[in-house]
Amino acid sequence: MKSVMLVGKRSVEIRDIPMPDRNKGEALIEVEFVGICGAEISWWASAGDTSRLPCVLGHEFSGVIKEIHEHGEGFIVGDRVTANPLIACGECSYCLRGQTNLCDSLKLMGLYGYPGVFCEYVSLPLNRLYAISSKVSARNSVLAEPLASSVHLMSHIPPDLSNNAKIAIFGAGLQGIFCLNLARINGWSNVAMLDVDDDRLQIAYEQGASLIVNSLREDSIDRLKRWTDGSGIDLGIDTSRSGDVRGRLLQVTAKGGIILLLGMNDPIVKADFRLAVERELKIQGSFGYCTQDFEKAVQYICDGSIAMDRFIRMLPFSEALNAYALSTTFGGEYLKTVVCMKDTGLS
Ligand SMILES: [Zn+2]
Ligand SMILES: [Zn+2]
Repeated sequence: MKSVMLVGKRSVEIRDIPMPDRNKGEALIEVEFVGICGAEISWWASAGDTSRLPCVLGHEFSGVIKEIHEHGEGFIVGDRVTANPLIACGECSYCLRGQTNLCDSLKLMGLYGYPGVFCEYVSLPLNRLYAISSKVSARNSVLAEPLASSVHLMSHIPPDLSNNAKIAIFGAGLQGIFCLNLARINGWSNVAMLDVDDDRLQIAYEQGASLIVNSLREDSIDRLKRWTDGSGIDLGIDTSRSGDVRGRLLQVTAKGGIILLLGMNDPIVKADFRLAVERELKIQGSFGYCTQDFEKAVQYICDGSIAMDRFIRMLPFSEALNAYALSTTFGGEYLKTVVCMKDTGLS
């Protein structure tokens, strides 16, 4: 069967691999759609430790069950599914506390040597599968995994944060737009969105942002201070790819406020942490997601609360080899690339 493999730095090949082994308690799934993830693009761009190559890419997907190998409770052949691709050991102290995203030996399918789903068929344990309603569009059917990261980030917000709280999200990429939607779903309607790309800010505006700021043209700190009558934002979220955002968040967050960090770029930054002390800011990182976050994400996709059709670019399988390079060059009008495994499934 065909598979899409990372074989070297910026080098992807279609290679023939054997059909997967079918083990007890697993379902054989015909993969239909595969999303291209930012973490994969970073790996594709660097290749890093080449002893982990070649590796089948892909961890955001949807497909249809073709066979079930015993104990198939809850699923039948023909069901459309996705799977949680984060693999935790289940035994370390973090796993035992339910913090599977912090597992000591966490693995992600399709990254750093663990085989992914960018191939025609995968066989996966039934207990990692989630049904995706047939009403969900092809484009949205792969979104549960990236959405789970935003759901996890938002789970760090104290439940008593007032509905009048002023929230600023830096970075109007897919995660930023997800956070904007999740804020709306949870009753927070005062959300400012900051980015350097007008197309993305336009998406944020259409998705309900109360204020959009292009931080190339406007002083974002000054603009947010004016928006909050000088007091500063109650909650700041960094999903951006810019290290200096963290310093700006320290300057613009109100006393007692909260800063949530998701962006992984520019790990070393210069920032004035006296502000965090003086203002008693709470700074919280967020990494991956836990089972309950993934479940919630599937629910939001299936009930239509989050739908991103217009912002997803669909590519035929014939473009699979270019998908990673193309994802780095798309204008801001797209937030995600999805490859259709069969050219006939394009819509
Ligand atoms: Zn992903
Ligand atoms: Zn563990």
